Amino acid sequence: MKGIYILIIRVEKETLLSVGALGALTFNPGLYAYVGSAQANLGQRIKRHLRKEKRLFWHIDYLLSSDAAKVVKVLYKNANKTEECAVANSLSGKGAPMDGFGCSDCDCKSHLFRIGADYRFLLESMKVLS
Ligand SMILES: [Zn+2]
Repeated sequence: MKGIYILIIRVEKETLLSVGALGALTFNPGLYAYVGSAQANLGQRIKRHLRKEKRLFWHIDYLLSSDAAKVVKVLYKNANKTEECAVANSLSGKGAPMDGFGCSDCDCKSHLFRIGADYRFLLESMKVLS
């Protein structure tokens, strides 16, 4: 299985994390949506995201390795990497971007957004994986 995915992440409490080259970032409690793409082995990628113990490689690894962060929903869609950025850009209008997060290899403002509690609008274009 391949495609793009959105991780809905709950941050339980205010958390200060050092996120690789981005430096120290404060995550306020609430829900976040992270947009990613796996053009091979989507299932393996999701499993990796859900594992706490791992070598920290992507920005999202730093957030998800924190005990304060929990993936509460995984959405996916069979689509290519171009659409990953289109989805990220559409989220810019719905949530607050964490500047520079997850977009080292594209021109997006961010691939991580703090969103409101009602994220049903995402289900219009994505399927629930877990
Ligand atoms: Zn992008």
